[in-house]
Amino acid sequence: MSLMRLAYASEATFHEKPAEHGVEPNVARILMMSRRNNAKNQIVGGLYYGNGYFFQYLEGEEKAVNELYERISRDDRHRNVTTLIQESLPERTFTNWSMKYVPLSSDVQRFLDKNSMESFNPLNFNRPLCEGMIGVIRDTSNEGRVIDHRQLASSRKARSSRTDPVSIGLAVAVLGLVGALVYASTMF
Ligand code: FAD
Repeated sequence: MSLMRLAYASEATFHEKPAEHGVEPNVARILMMSRRNNAKNQIVGGLYYGNGYFFQYLEGEEKAVNELYERISRDDRHRNVTTLIQESLPERTFTNWSMKYVPLSSDVQRFLDKNSMESFNPLNFNRPLCEGMIGVIRDTSNEGRVIDHRQLASSRKARSSRTDPVSIGLAVAVLGLVGALVYASTMF
């Protein structure tokens, strides 16, 4: 029995609804079905959904993974399904997860920052970025670190338009110095 690994990216076609318990409802339905089917077929891996894109990693018996990927590719809940990695695998690396879900977590944000990415768009991830993302999925613990990318983007904008405390301090110091010089010039 030969094993294989597969990673792909795609673009969601549904209109995103507010998350329930940290998961978008369409994604929650996909996850429920995935966990049931994958456990039966001994397929393991992880799914990330963010910024309207999916990134999924699958490991398992070659025939089972290929059959599943064919089914997934036909699913109209996403489009532009782009294969990023498809190769044989000597041994399994995800032991416990039929389909691990990574919420919009600070780990993913750190991964984006480290790779100078403004937003998550996995469709043209190269090999190192794919391996990096698989690592994030493998290592992330799901507990209590859900963040909202849209909120994060607007708070970043707000932060960058705000004057930082060092600049304010410098401006006050310069004003103080000018005031002192003016005062001194009136004394002599
Ligand atoms: P289908 O006839 O495809 O569907 C069975 C049930 O799935 C339906 O009754 C309905 O509840 C739901 N469904 C299917 N299409 C839609 C739709 N357009 N809108 C709403 N509900 C729908 N499946 C897995 O088994 N494992 C995975 O790891 C996996 N990952 C996925 C990742 C992504 C990004 C997406 C979009 C789908 C994924 N799926 C996964 C789902 C997969 O595409 C199939 O829908 C599923 O495997 C069932 O296939 P089926 O042919 O048995 O039944």
